[in-house]
Amino acid sequence: MVVGAIGLTGGIGSGKSTVARLLVGLGAHLVDTDAIARRLTARGGAAMPALAAAFGAEAVASDGALDRELMRRLVFADAGAKTRLEAVLHPLIGAEARREAALAAGAAVVYDVPLLTESSHWRTRVQRVLVVDCDEATQVARVVQRPGWNEAAARAVIAQQAPRRQRRAIADAVIHNDGLTLAALADEVGALWSLWQALG
Ligand code: ADP
Repeated sequence: MVVGAIGLTGGIGSGKSTVARLLVGLGAHLVDTDAIARRLTARGGAAMPALAAAFGAEAVASDGALDRELMRRLVFADAGAKTRLEAVLHPLIGAEARREAALAAGAAVVYDVPLLTESSHWRTRVQRVLVVDCDEATQVARVVQRPGWNEAAARAVIAQQAPRRQRRAIADAVIHNDGLTLAALADEVGALWSLWQALG
């Protein structure tokens, strides 16, 4: 475990990225595991040779990056494919996260991990878990604002993610990001940050 490390998680549209940015503003050193996964699977990314070997050349899109749409369909239809994908990606994400965390220079490390609830590995790695939570209707309302999204797509992602109750059950603190202005959210994040910094 990294002493002082915070694991940050939340469902799509919960406001997790917003909270991550607020924590960075307070001095946290952010390790964004989604961004790491995207880099690893971009053209020339470190995971691409192993993914091409595991799933064949068709897993690589014409731009040289992982064909995310194809992988999403594959993983949805075949649990074995999900296991193989994770067997390639997870160790690489873990290693890169460790490398980035080592650059913290004394700042508290915040690991932004969308799948933290599902991962015993991540939970043992952090001292505290912060969950950003809100009603499903709020999640959907936020996600449909994003270009290319609609309600069905938002609900499909929510259905694949850990249920809210399960996510809250692993939390040391929950931020209920419903009916909060951004300023009120910032106040809550600031108060929690101060408390956790004081507790050490
Ligand atoms: P996530 O990372 O959990 O998917 P984001 O942090 O990107 O979610 O938030 C989704 C959208 O909702 C963003 O446009 C963000 O600005 C907005 N948002 C989040 N929390 C609030 C809030 N308390 N008040 C107003 N807008 C919010």
